[in-house]
Order: sequence, then structure tokens, then C-alpha cells
Amino acid sequence: DPTKMADWQIAEAAETQMKSIREIGEKLGLQDGELIPMGRNVAKIDYNKAWSRVKNSKPGKYVDVTAITPTPLGEGKTTTTMGLVEGLGKIGKKPVGAIRQPSGGPTFNIKGSAAGGGLAQCIPLAPFTLGLTGDIDAITNAHNLCMVALTARMQHEHNYDDERLAQIGIERLNIDPDRVQIKWVMDFCAQSLRNITIGKGGKMDGLEMESGFAISVSSELMAILAVSNSLKDMRERIAGMVVAYSTSGAEITTADLEVDGAMCAIMLEAINPTLIQTIEGNPVLVHAGPFANIAIGQNSVIADMLGTRMGDYLVTESGFAADIGFEKFWNLKCRCSGLKPDAVVIVATVRALKMHGGGPQVKPGKPLDPAYTHEELALLEKGCENLKAHINIVKKSGASPVVCINGFYTDTEAEHNLVRRIAEEAGARCAVSKHWELGGDGAVELAQAVVEACEEENRFEFLYDLDMPLMERVHKIATELYGADGVDWSETATKKIEAMQNDPKTVEMAICMVKTHLSLSHDPDFKGAPKGWRLPIRDVLIYKGAGFIVPVAGDIKLMPGTGSNPGFRKIDVDTDTGKVTGLF
Ligand code: ADP
Ligand code: MG
Repeated sequence: DPTKMADWQIAEAAETQMKSIREIGEKLGLQDGELIPMGRNVAKIDYNKAWSRVKNSKPGKYVDVTAITPTPLGEGKTTTTMGLVEGLGKIGKKPVGAIRQPSGGPTFNIKGSAAGGGLAQCIPLAPFTLGLTGDIDAITNAHNLCMVALTARMQHEHNYDDERLAQIGIERLNIDPDRVQIKWVMDFCAQSLRNITIGKGGKMDGLEMESGFAISVSSELMAILAVSNSLKDMRERIAGMVVAYSTSGAEITTADLEVDGAMCAIMLEAINPTLIQTIEGNPVLVHAGPFANIAIGQNSVIADMLGTRMGDYLVTESGFAADIGFEKFWNLKCRCSGLKPDAVVIVATVRALKMHGGGPQVKPGKPLDPAYTHEELALLEKGCENLKAHINIVKKSGASPVVCINGFYTDTEAEHNLVRRIAEEAGARCAVSKHWELGGDGAVELAQAVVEACEEENRFEFLYDLDMPLMERVHKIATELYGADGVDWSETATKKIEAMQNDPKTVEMAICMVKTHLSLSHDPDFKGAPKGWRLPIRDVLIYKGAGFIVPVAGDIKLMPGTGSNPGFRKIDVDTDTGKVTGLF
């Protein structure tokens, strides 16, 4: 009974009956040599071998899970992704889940792991949560090696004259210490390392300059891992990363530093997705990481390409709500993978809808106001404006929307019926789902709604073509998806986007928006479906390796902070059993 047990206790109980990873590999039809077991219950899949075998087979149905604008607590996308996989399994389908690897930042801070919750989780929880097969470690190391190359090069160019440099065979790059584009990374929320001075000491201790740390999962390398569709593609994208500018304004790439090959070598195993299972023994691919800022906040193109060929339903999650996570799935990720979603699940909770209707603030770590645990039909009905806006976003893509009311045991039937009526009137299928409480048995209605939606004619189309001018694309996203009246470009942003528009190397790159996920607008306090506002674009960044142009309509925090009541306080090891306790 999940109302009485913590998520990690449910996982621990389920793990006593876990299938071996070979058995899960057999379910996917993996052949000899394609499964690389890493212990009994975790494996990597040799992407290259498996892909060469399945690439010409017909893809199964492709389902994305997104959400309405959430409260800061999260409304259950991962939980629903796991629940839908279990529900599809219950009705006799061959489902595969595809999610992201959790980051140590949120895991040890306030958000916790990203395994789902209740009876809708993936297992084994401890390895999944604590580093899994080392992909994020590889990103951390490859990224930091690049910083080592950059800082060592700056020191050597500073200390040596031209003759000495010529002897070693290196050309002066004249890296501008004020225009270094990247920082060091680690996968924790370490706010005290946001701004640091490096190179203190003597001439052999590096060049003194300002630097800092970002969280590993925000590295451009994570974005690259998420969108690459082959080793060659990943290799080329790594080489294209612009890490600094020279004093004359020329781009300095990892290839200029001659570190691109070594970075790719460190990332070599990370290109292979990891395989684990749900509580009910269905396969789950884990690949790439969270952070929908400069990354796209989705699991990888590779996992989805493989997964759609190995099962008859691939269920993936796109981070955040439909305006931001699904929009990037739609116009960025699907462009890279060539896949088209057959159905899109919009997760809605009574709690978040009441908040949009004007309910009191919802804050992590604070008890919920009674408005959220008692019937409140008026607030709920008002808040459904937000649901309708997200249904319209999904409908615009041409994919069939399915609203999943992620049921909480405090919800009432009248509340569910109200949301259902409004969702159906807005042209979506709707299912109430109780996977958190009941696992797959609670998600049968949802699974059936998804199967029906997938049978409809697929009219999926990109919102914009890559020949549309960059500013126009942003205008289209802002007005047609977010509901803005228009876009206000700062002077800096205008200059930068005009330069990108005139550069044949960047004009066809995809747009990766940076905006809060807590509102359809740029302001987290505008709830519901705000009208009568304009989207301010402060800056435009470019990630040439990943291939993204990043208009910034808010703050990008590349290093979150650890709070005063972090999750690591509850995590421990039972020294009798050797098991990890307290993960959440
Ligand atoms: P998201 O992926 O949207 O951020 P998660 O699936 O990680 O959200 O869920 C956030 C938290 O809410 C998790 O701790 C999960 O256990 C909890 N949760 C999700 N669905 C329910 C539910 N139906 N009832 C109670 N708790 C839930
Ligand atoms: Mg999630």
C-alpha cells in the first residue's frame, strides 16, 4: 500500500522478485553480444550492433508523456510514464519505457530521484539513482578534460615565446581569458563553486582568471549525448563545441584544442543506453539526463530509435510541460530522430489545476493547504484553462492528445468527472489513472486510451521549417504556443540573432527555448493561461556542437544550490544487509 510505504521501501520489496537483465533483454529480442550485463539487473545495450540489426524494421507506436504547467512538486510525468508501460503490459502489448538518468544534484537535494513513485517505478532503485553505468561520470570527465586542455594551453601560450611554441608544434590561439565560454562541472548542487578564481600561485600553477562550476547535466556534452544518432555524429558534434573566443573574436573549438578525440574516447560507452526494468518486469531504457535548459531535457534520440524497433509501444517522457518540454520534443528531438509521436499523454493533477485556478502557493517541504486535499470544484474548473492551453499545443503538432488524470487518493470522483468533461470538450481523450496506487492494474484505462489514440491518422508536423527566419520562429512559438501577444527582443539579443541569421552555418540550427516551466509565460507567477503579455528575450546563446540556438526568456541557472533540508540527510546504508535506505 503506497500510502503507507516510502518509494524506496516499495522498490526494495519489488527488487526481491526482480527478473534477471538477460530475461528483460530476451523480451526485447536482443541477440548475442548486444546485451552487455553490468551485474545481475543492469545492462548496457551495444547500440551499434543492435541498431544495425533492427534499423530496417518497422517502428512500433511512439508515445510521449508531457504535462500541464506543474507545481514545484512535479505532477507525475515519470510516474505516469512507468504506469503507462505497466498498463500496456497488462493489456497484452510489448511496451518499452525510455527515461533519463537522474542527476546527483536533485537526488541529494530536494527533488529526489526520478524513478517514478508508488507502484509505478523502475528498479533497481539504488543503482539507478546513484550513478548507474557511469554516463554522467563520463560527461563530467570529458567536460573537465576539455577545461584542462583549455587552461593548460592558456598557461603555455602565456609562458612560452613563439619560438618555443613552434618547437612543440603548437600554434598560438590567443584565447581571451574574459571570453571563456565554459566552466568546470560536477554533478551536485554546489553553489559555493559558482564563481571562483583559478590559477592562483606561481607561473607553473596556471593563468589566474575567473572561473566556476556548473552542474554536469547542464554540460553541452549532455545535450550532444541526447541528440546524437550515431558515434560519428557524436564525434562531430563534440569537435564543434565552441569553448572560448580568441582576442580577435575567432571561435575556439575542442578541435582547436586537439582534445575532441580524447573527449569522445571518454564518452564512448555513454553512447550505449542502459537497460533496467519496471516493478512489473517491463523493459526501461535509461539514457541522457535532465536539465531542459541548454539541453533538451529529454532522454536520447538513440534510446528512442532503438526502443521503437524493439517493442510495439515506446513510451518516453519529455521534461516539463507541453509548452517547453513537448515543444522541444516536437521541433528538436523528433527532427534529430526522424520519429513521429502517435500519441501524446498530458499528465494533469487536480492539485496543479486548483493552483492554476487561484489556489494557495504550493511549496516543496511545506504541508499542502486543505484546498488541495478536499473537494474544490470552482477552483478546479477555473484552473482547467491551463489544461485546455496544453491540449491545444499538442493538437497543433498533429499528434493525438490523451489527458491522463494522475489520481491522488485525496481526489474526489466529482473532481475527476469535471476534468474529464473539460478535456473531452477540448478534443482530447481522457483517462483517470491510478498507477501510483495500483501499478499496471490502475493504468488499464489509460493504456486503452493511448492504444486508441495511436490508431488515429498521424498528422504530426513541425511547427516551423528550418528555412523560416529565426526571429519568426521564436514569434511563432511565443504567440501560438505560449499565448503571448508578441516578442520583445533586447538590443543584445537582436544583434546576436541577426548575426546568426546571416551566418549560413547557424541559420538552419534548431531553436531550443529557455523559459520557466512554472508558467506558460516567462513569469512563474502567471498561472492558468495568461493573456495580454509579451515574451522578453534577453539574450541568445549558441551551442554549436549540439546544434542549438538558445533564446533566453528567463534565467539560466547552470549550478543550482543545495537547500537547508536536503535529501542526503535521509540516505544511509543498512550495514547488516548492505542495502541503501532512504532514497526518494
Ligand atoms: P515529474 O516527472 O513530473 O517531475 P514524478 O513522476 O517524478 O514527477 O513525481 C513527482 C513526485 O510525486 C514523486 O515523488 C511521486 O512519487 C509523487 N507522485 C506522483 N504521482 C502521484 C500520485 N498519483 N499520488 C501520490 N504521489 C504521486
Ligand atoms: Mg520526471
